[in-house]
Amino acid sequence: MHEDATVRELPLPGLALGDVVAALEARYDPALAEEWDAVGLVCGDPEEPVRSVMFAVDPTAEVVDEAIATGVDLLVTHHPLLLTPVHGVPASDPKGRLVHRLVRAGIGLFVAHTNADRAPDHGVNDALAAVLGLADVRPLESVAAPETDTLVVFVPVGVSDQLVDALSAAGAGVIGDYTRCVWQTTGTGTFIPGDGAHPAIGRLGHVERVPEIRLEMVVPRACRAEVLRALLELHPYEDPGYAFFENSATPSRAGLGRVGELSRPVTLREFAERVATSLPATPGGVRIAGDPDRIVRTVAVCGGSGASMLGAASSAGADVFVTSDLKHHSASEATQIPGPALCDVAHFASEWPWLPVAADLLHRDLGARVEVAVSASPTDPWTWQVGGDRRSTPSTTDTARLHSAEESVD
Ligand SMILES: [Zn+2]
Repeated sequence: MHEDATVRELPLPGLALGDVVAALEARYDPALAEEWDAVGLVCGDPEEPVRSVMFAVDPTAEVVDEAIATGVDLLVTHHPLLLTPVHGVPASDPKGRLVHRLVRAGIGLFVAHTNADRAPDHGVNDALAAVLGLADVRPLESVAAPETDTLVVFVPVGVSDQLVDALSAAGAGVIGDYTRCVWQTTGTGTFIPGDGAHPAIGRLGHVERVPEIRLEMVVPRACRAEVLRALLELHPYEDPGYAFFENSATPSRAGLGRVGELSRPVTLREFAERVATSLPATPGGVRIAGDPDRIVRTVAVCGGSGASMLGAASSAGADVFVTSDLKHHSASEATQIPGPALCDVAHFASEWPWLPVAADLLHRDLGARVEVAVSASPTDPWTWQVGGDRRSTPSTTDTARLHSAEESVD
């Protein structure tokens, strides 16, 4: 052994912030975000190691305190810290101060906002639908799936596996969670190499018959050029036979809001109780507009401010629409026409169910190399209220009393 050789502890194989960001963006595609939104990495060095990640709804001072106290390396929030453009982040500004504190503590900040709202399967709205027990869940307003082509290519038997590998590496053959998807059949390719040809198989001027495989693979249109490059590079023929067929648009599982079914119909009163017990308790509680005895089975949800989705909830045949921040006029108007009952919950509460879902998903994607946690700081800006009785629904006696009071006024 060399004299100055020492036994050094090797660092655990960790992940860089850039790897974690890539994993988050694979689930919460930034391309799904609204144009006005500000998603992605707010601060942090993509080269720095990340061993622990905390998820929160809002990047408030309390959440940053908690992240620093817990010693996490990355904070993931749903709401952006800097939604409107800034020209600087001086520590004298409340938001700039948070950036300074995060950077000094070596903590990155990553935002997944409207891209997490729209994301398929594990988004904010899926999490809200799941916590309320909805099944057969689909978007209220779905985003068109990315455009695709079907590539058909004919290749001599014996080279097809190699070609499929190359086409897959270039982006072809992805269907949902499945990769290297290909359909193939065998047949006979026939051709006559002409003057000036340099055929890989066959002789000039003679009919050639070659056992070939017809391969069909789906190709994201964005990858068409790269897939073609891979095909031309690997295919043994001088002029391979191939075609890209453009597929018609299909709806995706991504989109705003969700609608789904309860396993059994319940009264609106029972459903409201379920909402109250399934979401974090907040001072504003759960406000309902609708007959407590109305039977509900089809439920529409939209985490955050979902007033704009009221029409979609109604068109989807929802019996009740769960969302936040409904204003007096939109709620009042909605109750005057046939449509879903309304269930207005705290904005914070409607988005909170996403935190454990996103945390578990990241842990599943990255394994034990990264620890995940959900912030324990409630970030509902409303902290107390008076005069309400959030757990009660009008009873027959109350209604009778109200009527008699009105009569006495008349
Ligand atoms: Zn929100």
